[in-house]
Amino acid sequence: MIYLDYQATTPVAPEVAHAMRPWAEERFANPHSPSRWGREAEAAIEVARKQVDKAIGLKGGGVAFTGSATEALNWALKGTVEKRPPDRNRIVTVATEHAAVLDTCEWLAGQGIDLTVLPVGADGRLNLDDLERELDDRVLLVAVMMVNNEIGVTEPITEIARLAHDCGALMLCDAVQALGRVEICDGPDLVAVSAHKIHGPKGIGALWMRKGKEPAPFIHGGGQEMGLRSGTLSPALCVGFGAAAQLADERMTRDYDHVQKLWKAALHALGDGWTINGSTAHRYHGNLNIRREGVDAARLLADLRDIAFSLGSACASGSGRPSHVLRALGLDYREARCAIRLGFGRYTKQHELVEACKRIAAAAHAQETLDA
Ligand code: PLP
Repeated sequence: MIYLDYQATTPVAPEVAHAMRPWAEERFANPHSPSRWGREAEAAIEVARKQVDKAIGLKGGGVAFTGSATEALNWALKGTVEKRPPDRNRIVTVATEHAAVLDTCEWLAGQGIDLTVLPVGADGRLNLDDLERELDDRVLLVAVMMVNNEIGVTEPITEIARLAHDCGALMLCDAVQALGRVEICDGPDLVAVSAHKIHGPKGIGALWMRKGKEPAPFIHGGGQEMGLRSGTLSPALCVGFGAAAQLADERMTRDYDHVQKLWKAALHALGDGWTINGSTAHRYHGNLNIRREGVDAARLLADLRDIAFSLGSACASGSGRPSHVLRALGLDYREARCAIRLGFGRYTKQHELVEACKRIAAAAHAQETLDA
């Protein structure tokens, strides 16, 4: 199989599996119990916390572990609403956010929160004048992701955080697709990340919180994670996340340069007739979301079962619904159904990617010839 679905998840790094193994096998103690073994597990978790914190690279706050980035985003949104001053009742977000943000915001709207979902331009980017126009002293939180999971488009997070702060609001950034790939921009008060997008294990994420801006406690119980998110932590998952974060931090430039080469090679191998969805200038190049007039992308997927790629997004792929992100770019249903997403990174070999792209281009061409 040629794996080209790095936005859905990434292969576990060998160093990560190695670091996790003892904690998944013989080192089973509860990290919150006072025995020597418990304290060793706790110490390993604290090392991992520092590694994740360092990879995020922001000052003035710290990290709490969660079960996923989806949980971190739910916590950030719902916990901030719970602590809000009575006069701030609005959340402003963007149409291209992940479902973990959009669906949580919709749920909060059902609870009485005033929700504004801003549109994006044809390049998939937010117009900052549109944002500024919406900001007033009723806004509690602005939520914008840094690198889009479907189209790879990036947003100027520092600038957006400044606008949010100017009106007294907080800023939440979904940095799931940014961590380890590009530097996380300074400015946000809350940042959600996930281990399995950086060659770590599934089932663990984190919320970085600026000191004093922590949301209300999310899960009640034993008081773990500074009394904010109860539940026994898994040393194996935390250690795996820490090892993945350290590796991503150390390898960022090397991985980035590799991705830049892969991007060029992929475009060359695909040949003419493809349109890139979203901005080409403001983009992470490990995400190549493209469309080709008249091609049935679902049929491409079925024809090329030994290449793992996606229809716009992993979430949209299963549902049969065209992606909300491509629709937000202004693509109609017919155009959105012609789109595929190729995601590559650290372990992608250039020759595999080139082979996959040539086969995708040939299969698209065959559809055109058959359908003509
Ligand atoms: N946000 C973005 C941008 C993502 O790509 C994903 C995963 O697809 C998530 C949030 C959710 O992450 P998790 O799988 O850790 O819940």
